[in-house]
Amino acid sequence: MKHMTRKATRHVNQNEGLIFEKSSPGKAAWKLPPLDVPEVDASKILGASERKDLGEMPEVSEIEIIRHFTRLSTWNYAIDLGMYPLGSCTMKYNPRVNEAVARVEGIANGHPYQPGEISQGALLILKTLSEQLIEITGMDAITLQPAAGAHGEMTGLLMVRAYHQSQGNARKKILIPDSAHGTNPATAAMVNYAVENLKSDARGMVDLAALESQMNEDVAALMLTNPNTLGVFEQDIHKIADILHAKGGLLYMDGANMNALVGKVRPGDFGVDVMHLNLHKTFSTPHGGGGPGSGPVAIKKKLEPFLPTPVVVTKPDGTLGFEYDRPHSVGRVRAFYGNFGMFVRALAYIQANGPDGLRQTTEDAVLNANYIRKGLEDTYDLPYATPTMHEVVFSDKLQAKKGVRTMDIAKRLIDYGFHPYTTAFPLIVPGALMIEPTESEPTEELDLFIEAMKSIAEEVEEDPQMVLDAPHSTRVSRLDETAAARKPLLRWKPEN
Ligand SMILES: *Cc1c(COP(=O)(O)O)cnc(C)c1O
Repeated sequence: MKHMTRKATRHVNQNEGLIFEKSSPGKAAWKLPPLDVPEVDASKILGASERKDLGEMPEVSEIEIIRHFTRLSTWNYAIDLGMYPLGSCTMKYNPRVNEAVARVEGIANGHPYQPGEISQGALLILKTLSEQLIEITGMDAITLQPAAGAHGEMTGLLMVRAYHQSQGNARKKILIPDSAHGTNPATAAMVNYAVENLKSDARGMVDLAALESQMNEDVAALMLTNPNTLGVFEQDIHKIADILHAKGGLLYMDGANMNALVGKVRPGDFGVDVMHLNLHKTFSTPHGGGGPGSGPVAIKKKLEPFLPTPVVVTKPDGTLGFEYDRPHSVGRVRAFYGNFGMFVRALAYIQANGPDGLRQTTEDAVLNANYIRKGLEDTYDLPYATPTMHEVVFSDKLQAKKGVRTMDIAKRLIDYGFHPYTTAFPLIVPGALMIEPTESEPTEELDLFIEAMKSIAEEVEEDPQMVLDAPHSTRVSRLDETAAARKPLLRWKPEN
């Protein structure tokens, strides 16, 4: 084996207080020459809106501002720093070319209120991306409006409901497998459907007999993730679609895992009626930190009348424009046409890769997950032996004998310089370790990750308490996550 530098085992983060604590009166990060024009009376312009007391604003010098935010940035883990194996999230590298394209002046400075005649380029970006996503998914039409995967699910189910209503019966429930992402049942409930749980079989796939017996005219749709959250491809997907369609139901596919399919198979070809994509997962637009995400919804022809308005169309004179007059539409689901900057980045990614590149990406993502599976299957319990696609799910069964659970192992991984994998999901695997390397990772990084995971397993045998107390290298160790969610302190108050 080639000599490799082991990953840093200490976090390089600097201690840093609040910017308010650095403040002292009179400090400023800017200097202006003396005013050589008459001073304007702000109250004349602002009237009652003028705020005379700005409260306790920090007063600091330029270098203090720069250092403050630079130091804070070292507290974050980022894909630019190392592997981010958060299963189900597809934390792939965001190529810089996407950013370069998104910053092209005419694109970055376009305004959504700009008239159509001078927005033809922006509209062409929307149209081209739409066509390419339709080609990739094998569907018939698409909306780019939703702001995230979960928002796409809601938009998709609103269309499902509108479709059934147009057939004379909105129907009552949505079937959801027990391996589903939590957003699926939440979405169904928001759209006023009852949720019925569908069991998985021993292979981790939809149990066809259960589906057969639960499917009836009350079921509006099945929401299925494929490959599912175990990283397993639903091999009976055609039969699943047939069972639904035979009773007038629709197949909704949660497309968050499209990174395992792009360029290989198309959901539209295996019976899917409606699906969302996560551009911030599969198509490399930035992810995390609260957004902006993007969750386009692709549909089959029969759902087209219900698309959110407006829809990009080619007008009779050959130019592009928005069509608002769509009487069966579920309405608008987001301001303007969605997160335009994300469409630019996703389109840049698709164009830069081309069809062969996208297919290679998919193959590499699956190869990387299987490389990790092979590397760790003797160290961690593998609850499902079914072939792995783009992510692999282990359990903490072996380590639990020493009282160490998946969360403890994940916390210890931080000391090895990696972001934790996904813990405690999917729910059908108790103590899950859900690992998704994505295609971005070179073999060297995968080897370091495997080595770190093996080393932690050894520590569990030799000194479990050390793992239970991890992380040891961060500014703060274990936080009370419940208190942070239930009683957040979001405001700093000066002590006086
Ligand atoms: C990420 C994810 C979602 C939700 O997508 P967001 O963009 O986070 O709202 C839904 N389902 C699955 C399987 C996912 O991995």
